[in-house]
Amino acid sequence: MRPIFQVTFLVSLLGLALTSSAFAADSHGADPADSYSVSAKKSTQSPGKDIADQLSAAVENGDLRKKRLTLVNTGMDKKSGTNDAHSAPPNLLAAATVNPQTSRNYIRAKAAVLTGYTAPEIASDEHGHAPHWSYEGDGGPQAWGKLKPEFNTCATGKRQSPIHIEDALTLQGPAEAIQINYQPSNGVVVNNGHTIQVDVSGDNSITVRGSTYKLLQFHFHHPSEERVNHKSYSMVAHLVHRNREGQLAVVGVLLDPGVANSLINSVWTYMPLDAGDSVRMPLGLVDLNELLPKDQRYYQFMGSLTTPPCTEGVLWMVLKQAVTLSRDQLKLFGQLFPNNARPVQSVNARAIREAQ
Ligand SMILES: [Zn+2]
Repeated sequence: MRPIFQVTFLVSLLGLALTSSAFAADSHGADPADSYSVSAKKSTQSPGKDIADQLSAAVENGDLRKKRLTLVNTGMDKKSGTNDAHSAPPNLLAAATVNPQTSRNYIRAKAAVLTGYTAPEIASDEHGHAPHWSYEGDGGPQAWGKLKPEFNTCATGKRQSPIHIEDALTLQGPAEAIQINYQPSNGVVVNNGHTIQVDVSGDNSITVRGSTYKLLQFHFHHPSEERVNHKSYSMVAHLVHRNREGQLAVVGVLLDPGVANSLINSVWTYMPLDAGDSVRMPLGLVDLNELLPKDQRYYQFMGSLTTPPCTEGVLWMVLKQAVTLSRDQLKLFGQLFPNNARPVQSVNARAIREAQ
């Protein structure tokens, strides 16, 4: 079994070179540093040059792709940290987010340092892996729950989003106003392949139900994911907030064609066209007040992230009054994302409050 033989040596060599700080415990709680230390001793029995040659050959053959070294994304990598539209905070997700591409790049870089050999670019491919989630085809919404074990909730959850909101089925009555505290802030526009998302830094928060949630990011869906009284909107913006306890609150702002929106103009101006790219906006250009309707009454219900892993326990507030964007603004987004809306999910007798 030559591949395994090679892998053993690869691990040995990497074990010599990598410090334990480069790895965190994997999702099974194992400390990789321990297992590497054993291999490192073995590797001293072999001439270094042979190992280097095998490593070079392995890199060249692409065998490294078969090695299941697990690098843990610590969240320091901005790009991969914002990969998902509803990027849940680390404490809501499984302990480790593994980015295979990052792992491969890291291993390749290490191999190059060790051998003085620069490997040819190894393309990221999904061959042999489950399809990545998407909005159509094999990785479409109906398949999300089966793509990965951690996506199970997409299929089995009972409080999933989005939903169809019907006034006839809502609990109508008084409801507290959402206290919204937004101010001009800094943003990074990310094209994560699923949507355009703006990661926001600054002092933006909402207070509702006795808790203050800080704004993390906002992003867009086309068409709108939510349906209200059998109507779909052209788009929706989701403003994603998190409180100190790690709970998420999303404010949905429905969008229909009309007068151009100034915030959308700013975001579209810096919109990266390639998936995986991000662009830092000029300082202070993000002011979410420009996106909010005057009337801030809302529908409130418990739901989930609308993208895998479809985590539940998210407090949703969909503003009843839609705002407008121009047809040109709508067209531009639609060209990049013809459809990035999850279909509506069963309400399952959930209570939906309609603030009067
Ligand atoms: Zn969303």
